[in-house]
Parts: sequence; C-alpha cells; structure tokens
Amino acid sequence: MNEITKQIEARFLELGVKVETSEIDTKLDQLINKFKVPPEEARRNVVNYFLKKHNIPKSDFFTARETAQVKASDIKEDGKWITLRCKVVQLWDANHESLSQAGLLGDESGTIAFKKWSKANLPQVEEGKSYLFKNVVTSLWQERFSVSLNKTSEIIPIAENIEVGTTITEFSGAIVDVQSGSGLIKRCPECNRALIKGACGEHGKVEGKYDLRIKAVLDDGEKVQDILMNREITEAFTGITLDKAKEMATEALDQGVVLDVMKNMLVGRYYVVAGKKLDRFILVDSIKPDVKPIEEDITRILAATSMPFAVEA
Ligand SMILES: [Zn+2]
Repeated sequence: MNEITKQIEARFLELGVKVETSEIDTKLDQLINKFKVPPEEARRNVVNYFLKKHNIPKSDFFTARETAQVKASDIKEDGKWITLRCKVVQLWDANHESLSQAGLLGDESGTIAFKKWSKANLPQVEEGKSYLFKNVVTSLWQERFSVSLNKTSEIIPIAENIEVGTTITEFSGAIVDVQSGSGLIKRCPECNRALIKGACGEHGKVEGKYDLRIKAVLDDGEKVQDILMNREITEAFTGITLDKAKEMATEALDQGVVLDVMKNMLVGRYYVVAGKKLDRFILVDSIKPDVKPIEEDITRILAATSMPFAVEA
C-alpha cells in the first residue's frame, strides 16, 4: 500500500499538484482494508478522486506512460497498452458514427485490425503510409485480436516504408457456403468497393463496372475459414468467365443467377486452398479438390466390405 501511495504522490507532483500523503493513505486504507477492493482498483479509484478534485483531465495523467513497442503478430493478450510501428494496409468502411477510421495495420511480422474512435480526436491515417502508433490498447473479440486508438493514443507519421510480411496459409475443408456478394458483382469506378443495390457506401448511386468474385466459407469439421477469390482465380476455378457470367445474367434477366450456379457447383465439396491471410480471409492463390476425404471413403468402404469375407473364411 505504501508503494501505491508513493507512486500516486510522485505522479501528481510531476503534474504540479501536491497531494497529501496521509490523505492518499486514508483513502487507500478504507478501500483495501475496509471495503476489500483489490489494490489496482483502489489505486484507480483514488487517482480518479484526486484528478476530479484538482480538475486534471484523465488523459494528462495517463499519457506520460511510454508503452513497449511490439510486433503485430506478437499481440496475444487482451487489454494491453502497446506501441506499434506499422503501415496502414487497408482502410475499411467505418460504418458507425462513433468510429472515425477502421482497417488493417501491418508490419514485418503480419497484420492486425484497428479501430480509431471519433472521440479520440486523432488525425486521419492514409492507406499505404507508415506510422508509429503510440499507446494503443489491444482487444479480443470473437477470438480475434485488434487494437483500439483512443484519447491517450498518438499517431506519428514516419518516412520509412514498412514492408508488410505475409505468411501463406493453407486450409482444407468443405465449402459450406458461397456468400451473397459473390458471382457477378458491380464495383464503384471511384473507390472499387462492391456496390450494394447499385450504390457505393461512399459515393452513392454510380455507374458500376462488372467484376467476378467468390466469397465462401470452408469448414474442416473443427473450425471455419473465410476465403476470397478474385476474378482471375474465379474464372480459372469455375470455368465461368466474366463475359460468360454477363451472358448468363442477360439471359436470365437476373445477376443472381451466377451466384446460384456457383453455389450448386461448389457447396458440399472438399478443397485445399492456399494464399495470403488478410484479417479473417485467405486471399486464394490456389485452390484444388481435396482428395483426402475420398481416399478415406474408399478405405472405409473396403473395411466394411471385407468384413463378411473375413467371417466366411
Ligand atoms: Zn465508391
């Protein structure tokens, strides 16, 4: 307890405020010994009390803390304050007003998603530029890590162009879904986003240009994996070219027919995919039928059929 008192006193002194040692002691003693509050919570409580009393913004008190610089792929703990040296790999639609920017950061070790809150009042970052992100906090949601940039964070542009490391991932399993937004789609000519009902989230109603892609989900019986195939891979894999897809849509008077055909072709079949991992997706470089389940089936059939013979013999 004595140690906590000393730390609090020293930190307030740095900010030019003298807080009485006895007053800190009394408050800590009450919280810890009388109300059985855990020491860390008691510390926060006491600090907040004196911040309020002396009218000091919380951010002033906490920013002085220097956080350790870590690699994107080393983030394995929730709620940890860190510093990252990263390039902005991708910006996503920040589709909530409390969010000012969201996207993907990357360094030599890999990538990590980020969120920048509007109330943090931080400068905008640009895709393809590198920055030092000081005092960001890690969070874990649905088994994936990300970092949050808030009031006490700092963004410092750096001249260096960081090479973002990518690791090739392989996954094999059955395609259990080909998602909407697959097949023949239209993209915004300005920003290349896929249009939803003929409109871009950023640029509104636009004359879209056609593209072909597949967003699908693979399941290996234990976990699921989202995959993304661009036009080139989709054409080679399905045999349906962009021109053919347009023809199909014209004939059926419905763009959705391409998605239906692809669903019928793919759902329920086993594949091995390989490609770069980008957030929750594998960007497919290669996809081929997985022969393993078939071999297993044959083994099972052989095992089953040899039984009666064994009995006869
Ligand atoms: Zn657009």
